[in-house]
Amino acid sequence: MENMQGKIIKGIAGFYYVYVSEAGVYECKAKGVFRNKKIKPLVGDNVLIDIISDNEHTGNITDILPRKNELIRPAVANIDQAMIVFASLSPEPNFNLLSRFLVMMEYNRIDTVICFNKTDQVDSGILDKMIKDFSGCGSRIITSSVKENKGIDEIREVLQNKTTALAGPSGVGKSSILNSVFPEAESRTGEISEKINRGKHTTRHTEIFNITGDTFVLDTPGFTSLDYNVVEDKDLRFYFNEFTEYEGKCRFNGCVHVNEPDCAVKEAVSAGKISELRYKIYTDMYNELKNKRKY
Ligand code: GDP
Ligand code: ZN
Repeated sequence: MENMQGKIIKGIAGFYYVYVSEAGVYECKAKGVFRNKKIKPLVGDNVLIDIISDNEHTGNITDILPRKNELIRPAVANIDQAMIVFASLSPEPNFNLLSRFLVMMEYNRIDTVICFNKTDQVDSGILDKMIKDFSGCGSRIITSSVKENKGIDEIREVLQNKTTALAGPSGVGKSSILNSVFPEAESRTGEISEKINRGKHTTRHTEIFNITGDTFVLDTPGFTSLDYNVVEDKDLRFYFNEFTEYEGKCRFNGCVHVNEPDCAVKEAVSAGKISELRYKIYTDMYNELKNKRKY
């Protein structure tokens, strides 16, 4: 029996769809071995399969290769990075949502790239302010305009040969970006965008799309409604990279930088060293988490 390596791109009702480079997608079952080991194949897993029928493209998963990481929601393995896209003006960028996304990705130890698209819609002052507000958050920031063909090479360099969770509200230009970055995959990117945009209330399976070669994109509709309750109010500060250099410099041990006097973080905000916007978002999130805990 022929043995091949591939990547699980979706799983439905006991079947796993395994993408094999150059050969296409095989419908596979996972038999025996895994049940004993209490390990369940996940979308994103790199696996070995035995081919059952080359004509029908069916197989059997025999091995799961070691995982780089594993997310619970969505249930997926081996995500290399996330990219979240916002438009510069329309639809209006939601910095609150962006910050929540960054907290969740940081919690899951996944690097995030921020993309501000449609830069042709704003003058450079507005764009500079957005970049400045997030310059300390720890993520790489890319600005792009599909319309003016700007930033496209940089996005290609970021996505190429990686598996990326692509997020961002509807209408910000995700599918336009994929189409101009990977014109050879145009038909597939339309499908991806449609699925990403279906929104948070649709419960469906997780799916990874092969764009070209080793480049995969995870469609992540759920990522727009983030449940960051897993983070405790008192720990939230550790997910704001801007605060790191001030930790331990406040008067009180365990200062959460909200109401305490002589707080190094608050002083840095006053001195313009930390973005006021980011600090405001932090205190809002902090209060939200604190209030939730009471009930
Ligand atoms: P998605 O819902 O995030 O996939 O967004 P689309 O790619 O469908 O784009 C939504 C709309 O924004 C379309 O009409 C695109 O032509 C437009 N669009 C995409 N990128 C840009 C850009 O850089 N500048 C401008 N002005 N419009 C853009
Ligand atoms: Zn403090």
